[in-house]
Amino acid sequence: MPTQTRYPQTAENLKRIADNAANAAAKYRGSDEKIDIMAVTKTVDPDKINFAIECGITLLGENRVQEYLSKKDSYDKRGQVQFIGHLQTNKVKYIINDVTMIQSVDSLKLAGEINRLAEKNGRVMDILLEVNIGGEETKSGVDKDQLFVLAEQAAELKNLRLKGLMAIPPVGCGEEVFEQMRELFEALKSKKLANADISVLSMGMSGDYETAIKHGSTLVRIGSALFGARDYTKKQ
Ligand SMILES: *Cc1c(COP(=O)(O)O)cnc(C)c1O
Repeated sequence: MPTQTRYPQTAENLKRIADNAANAAAKYRGSDEKIDIMAVTKTVDPDKINFAIECGITLLGENRVQEYLSKKDSYDKRGQVQFIGHLQTNKVKYIINDVTMIQSVDSLKLAGEINRLAEKNGRVMDILLEVNIGGEETKSGVDKDQLFVLAEQAAELKNLRLKGLMAIPPVGCGEEVFEQMRELFEALKSKKLANADISVLSMGMSGDYETAIKHGSTLVRIGSALFGARDYTKKQ
């Protein structure tokens, strides 16, 4: 903890979230399982994000390319940025050299473009496949029936490394939806795909991260519980 507490509420929130996550892991999963806590940064001032990094957060989750580009130069370099929002194919070029993972891959077209640009830039990009686990028409993500087809296609692409799955279970859904994600994650692991190292299940946000941990999440994405309610009216 930094001695100079610029954002006491954020420091307190982080401690509570870390305790809750560790307790949920111990209660449901056996004590030595480590859960990664990602700070979701949309609408949050870079100074506050940097404070969270000083407090020990290492993973930052970005939703919007434009907002990220306007803020990234202000970030503490210890923060590792992953992209978690809907990503248009024509915007991959803006983030390919800055992010360490793209969690929101939901089509072969997008996977192909990430692969093409990763190759061009001499790197391998870690990706997660986003699953539309609630089957909601308005949400991004691949349908669960199409998931393994896409996983096999993505695994053919040499400059991608498939690391696992991401999902946003619908607000208020039953725990069986979280459990379905665990089952898909375990099934994907057992496939032993090439160019894959299936170890990340990104599931759980401010309102449901303990439930997500109960059902196998390895990475929770926390925005409002950490930084407070988002103010979308404020200019970035
Ligand atoms: C905004 C967002 C989050 C964090 O939401 P909170 O409910 O504020 O924790 C997590 N994941 C994604 C993909 C998001 O867009």
